[in-house]
Amino acid sequence: MSTMSASLVPSYNRVKKALWDEARERTLKSASAKRKNVVYWMYRDQRAHDNWALLRAQALAVERGGTMSVCFVLFKEGLSLRHYDFMLRGLEEVEAELLKHKVAFEVVRDAAGVVAEAQARDAGCVVCDFSPLRESRASRDAVARGLPVDVELREVDAHNVVPAWVASDKLEVGARTIRKKINDKLPRFLTEFPELQSQPATPPSDGARFDWRSALAEIKSSSEIPNVAPIDWCDPGERAAHAALDAFCTDGRLEIFADKRNDPNANAVSNLSPYFHFGQLSPQRAALRVNGCKGAGVKAFIEESVVRRELADNFCLYQPNYDSLDGAARWARDSLELHERDRREHAMSRRQFEDANSHEDLWNAAQRQLVRAGKMHGFMRMYWCKKILEWSPTPVDALATAIYLNDKYSIDGKDPNGYVGVAWSVMGTHDMGWKERPVFGKIRYMNYNGCVRKFDVKRYVAAWPANAGPIDIFFDAETRKKKKARRS
Ligand SMILES: Cc1cc2nc3c(=O)[nH]c(=O)nc-3n(C[C@H](O)[C@H](O)[C@H](O)COP(=O)(O)OP(=O)(O)OC[C@H]3O[C@@H](n4cnc5c(N)ncnc54)[C@H](O)[C@@H]3O)c2cc1C
Repeated sequence: MSTMSASLVPSYNRVKKALWDEARERTLKSASAKRKNVVYWMYRDQRAHDNWALLRAQALAVERGGTMSVCFVLFKEGLSLRHYDFMLRGLEEVEAELLKHKVAFEVVRDAAGVVAEAQARDAGCVVCDFSPLRESRASRDAVARGLPVDVELREVDAHNVVPAWVASDKLEVGARTIRKKINDKLPRFLTEFPELQSQPATPPSDGARFDWRSALAEIKSSSEIPNVAPIDWCDPGERAAHAALDAFCTDGRLEIFADKRNDPNANAVSNLSPYFHFGQLSPQRAALRVNGCKGAGVKAFIEESVVRRELADNFCLYQPNYDSLDGAARWARDSLELHERDRREHAMSRRQFEDANSHEDLWNAAQRQLVRAGKMHGFMRMYWCKKILEWSPTPVDALATAIYLNDKYSIDGKDPNGYVGVAWSVMGTHDMGWKERPVFGKIRYMNYNGCVRKFDVKRYVAAWPANAGPIDIFFDAETRKKKKARRS
C-alpha cells in the first residue's frame, strides 16, 4: 500500500524518537495504566496506513508489552445508504489490511460497545481519533464516562497535518489569520509516516471476519436510513484513494489547479474530498505527494487541502454553534436579522429545493449534480448555497435546508468543511461585510450573470439535464468505457 520502498521504511524506534510528535495527542482521561493492551477506537480516520492514531496505539502497546486491537462504531447519526455503501466498502479493506498485520478489527454498535471492547481486550488505554463535530464529541464523552477508572483515553488528531489544537488555540477570523500559524508549523508536522508493524500474533478470539454484506443488506432494508443511491464514479478504500491522488498529480489536473479549479466545466479539481472525509486518505499523505510535484498548482492545493480545510476544523472546534445562526459573527447576525422580512422574489420550500424545482436552470443543474453524483463542483457549491439564502423564507430556514441537502446527498457531507461552506455562504463566516442589499444584508452576494462571465453556464446546465444522469463527466474516455461495461 505504502509508496515507500522497504529500505526507506523507518523503524519503530525511529518512529518513537523522530517522527511521532507528542503535540498530536491529548489525554482525555488519565489513569495509572496497569494493563498492557491498547484499543484504538477508529472513527474519523478509516485507514490502516498513514494514520497517527493507529500508529500511536501500536507504539503504546509495544512500549507496555501488550497488543493493540482496533474497534469501529458502525452506526452513525444521519448517514444515508450512499454514505454507508462507501464507508463499509472502505472498512472491509481496512479490516483485511489490519488482519494482514495481525491486528484484530471489531465492529461495535455504539459508545457502550467501545467500552465493552476495551474491557473484553483487558485494555489499559483507549486511543481515539479527533473530530470537532458535536456527535463525535458526545460519543467521546460517553466513552470517557463509561471506561473504568484505571483505563485512560487519549485522543490523536490523525486528520490534520498540524493538529487542530496546535494550529491555533482560539476561534480564527479567517484564512488570513490562520494561514501563517499553519504554514510556520508545516516543517515540524509535514513529515513522512512510519509503517504499521505486524504484531507477533493476532489477539485471541479473532479470525472471524465481519460480515460486511449482511451489514449493508441490513442498512438497505432499514426504514430509518435514507435510501440515497450509492455513487459509482469514485471507488472507495485506501488503495483507490492513493490511485486517485496519483492520478491527480500526473494526469494534468494539478498543473491547471491554480487557474481552473473554479471552472465547473474544467476537469481541474482533485475529487479527493470523499477520501479525506471518510479518512481513507490522509491529507498529510496528499500534501507530501503534491509537494513533490512542480508548478503553481502545488501552492494552491496546499492552501485548499491544508489551510482551508484546517480552518474549517478550527471553526467547528471553537464555535459550538457551527451550524446555527448563533455561530455567526455579530455584524452578520445583525445584518441578516435586519433583512429577515425583506420580500423574497422567489420563495421556495425545502421540497422544491430538493426536487431541483427552481425557476433557474443553473441552480437546478447544480442540485441535480448533488443528488445524482453525490458531489457538486466546489464553485457551484457556493452559488447553490447563496441562492438557498436568497430564496428561503428566512436565513434560519436557508441554513437548515442547505445543511439538510448537503448532509443527505453529498458523499463528503457531515464534515466540518460542509458546515463551514454553508456558514460562509449564509452567515458570512470567515468573510467580511459587503455592500448592503435586500435579503442578504451585508453577506456576500452571487448572481447568474457573474457565473456567465466566469464559465460556460450552458455547458454545465447541459451536463445535468432533468431526465438523465450523466455522472460520466467525471471520467476520461477509457474509464467511461470500463464503467459502462461493468454496469451492463
Ligand atoms: C455550501 C458549501 C458546502 C460544502 N460542503 C462540503 C462538504 O460537505 N464536504 C467537504 O469536504 N467540503 C465541502 N465544501 C468545501 C469544498 O467545496 C469542497 O471541499 C471541495 O469542493 C471538495 O472537492 P475536491 O476534493 O475536488 O476539492 P479540491 O478543489 O481538489 O481541493 C482539495 C481539498 O481541499 C479542501 N478544500 C477545498 N476547498 C475547500 C473549502 N472551500 N473549504 C475547506 N476545504 C476545502 C478539501 O479537503 C478538498 O478535498 C463545501 C463548500 C460550500 C461552499
